[in-house]
Amino acid sequence: MSLADNTPTLDRFPSHDPATGEVLATWPVDDEASVAEAVDRARLAAQWWADLGHQGRRERLLAWKSLLARRIRQLAQQMHRENGKPVDDAILEIVLTIDHVDWAARHSRKVLGPRTVRPTLLSANQQAWLEYQPLGVIGVIGPWNYPVFTPMGSIAYALAAGNAVVFKPSEYTPGVGAWLVDSFAEVVPEQPVLQLVTGRGETGAALCRAGVDKIAFTGSTATGKKVMAACAARLTPVLIECGGKDALIVDSDADLDAAADAAAWGGLSNAGQTCVGIERVYVAEDVYEPFLAKLVAKVEQLRPGSDPHASYGPITMPSQVDVIRRHITEALKAGARAVVGGADSAEGAFVQPVVLVDVPEDSPAITEETFGPTLSVTRVRDADEAVDRTNASSYGLGAAVFSKRRGMELARRVHSGMTSVNSAVSFATVPALPFGGVADSGFGRIHGADGLKEFTRAKAITRQRFGLPMPLTSFDRTPQTTDLVVKVVTLLHGRNRLGR
Ligand code: NDP
Repeated sequence: MSLADNTPTLDRFPSHDPATGEVLATWPVDDEASVAEAVDRARLAAQWWADLGHQGRRERLLAWKSLLARRIRQLAQQMHRENGKPVDDAILEIVLTIDHVDWAARHSRKVLGPRTVRPTLLSANQQAWLEYQPLGVIGVIGPWNYPVFTPMGSIAYALAAGNAVVFKPSEYTPGVGAWLVDSFAEVVPEQPVLQLVTGRGETGAALCRAGVDKIAFTGSTATGKKVMAACAARLTPVLIECGGKDALIVDSDADLDAAADAAAWGGLSNAGQTCVGIERVYVAEDVYEPFLAKLVAKVEQLRPGSDPHASYGPITMPSQVDVIRRHITEALKAGARAVVGGADSAEGAFVQPVVLVDVPEDSPAITEETFGPTLSVTRVRDADEAVDRTNASSYGLGAAVFSKRRGMELARRVHSGMTSVNSAVSFATVPALPFGGVADSGFGRIHGADGLKEFTRAKAITRQRFGLPMPLTSFDRTPQTTDLVVKVVTLLHGRNRLGR
């Protein structure tokens, strides 16, 4: 039983197949009271889960990972039905997720477990311990675009760190959320360590007010701000993963075939509904024409659809089609040209591929998140101008740089949480790397050691090994002690290499 059946008093909402509009199932709208009950249950479960220790949790998380691997096709079908993405793309998403669950389970002890740290001379009589303790109950508010990979970046790492989780999936993908929660309950039947609440934005808002120990939110910047405001009332900490306007930079010495391939995949896979999807391409002028020709040739072969051979699926959230169309038409009105597709490409659920050139930098197609299968390609003087234009965005999530000689240098100069060199989006495939943004793209990190620590509090403990003959932190301290301390500190720290 997934849920729902035992909650007859709650209102219900439908989930749809975005390709056809067909209703797939109905789900309860968890209200303030039922969200609070879930959080209460989670509190007890959190203690039990934390008490299992790293080894106990590792065994269970690895068992969950194995179950995900064995049922990969079943979950992929569920994702295809609710989100619309091709089954093969869904499988890729689950494969990457499995890798993350495995990494989080295997590394939690090493990253978070107790360790001693060295005191300095002034505190040499202390033994110093550092450990990272679970926060308790984490509320995860997930999106629909990567309904497994994205929320699991919070869920798996929060669980590995010893927390219980209450998960509110997007109203567009509740069935995927229920699948994840039910499969976890198969390997951890003892306590509701991972629970589901379903509903619309109001259910997410109720979770923010429910007194959880942290909220991990993925979605739009506008909703991220509402989440922060709601969490402020109880000083609930937040991790905010919002969208981006990621750029791909093509330097004069870039491998143009690889760059065109990455721009097409990074921009149009998943129908462009990717927070780290490529939306802008800046190309050094001496390679602009050949790059554009290669990109257009690739993109022209792409086709949306629901069949097994489609390049990408429908737009999951119907209202997004209006946003995509507005970005295209406003760009064209402002003087841009469409070299693939055009104003009528965004009609109905299956949006055709679009490549725009000469888009003014103040156009929404450059400044706002489009979240559709569109790319704007802009000619720039060189890679330095490309970096300046990339950094002019209010967002800063990911980026890609194609350059043979200057890849690392350019990557470091891009103001973003993540940048890949000579590929697109690859940073998300390395579990040890943190994932998150800057500026309007949010803050906090999932994945990697930082992602584990995100769901913990650092705990400092000192144990006095012996008393000092001349105590510093006592009312018995004498002026002679202070004199000695001044001498020692001057000896240790008084010299200045700069001679000032
Ligand atoms: P939202 O930011 O509105 O929703 C994201 C999640 O937050 C969903 O689970 C949503 O629930 C929930 N939510 C909505 N309102 C509240 C609230 N007041 N308090 C707490 N939780 C809330 O994104 P949308 O799905 O509507 O997409 C809008 C835009 O956001 C897209 O066009 C895209 O630009 C961006 N986006 C970015 C994503 C990313 O990966 N960075 C992912 C998804 C969207 P529900 O779905 O039930 O309303």
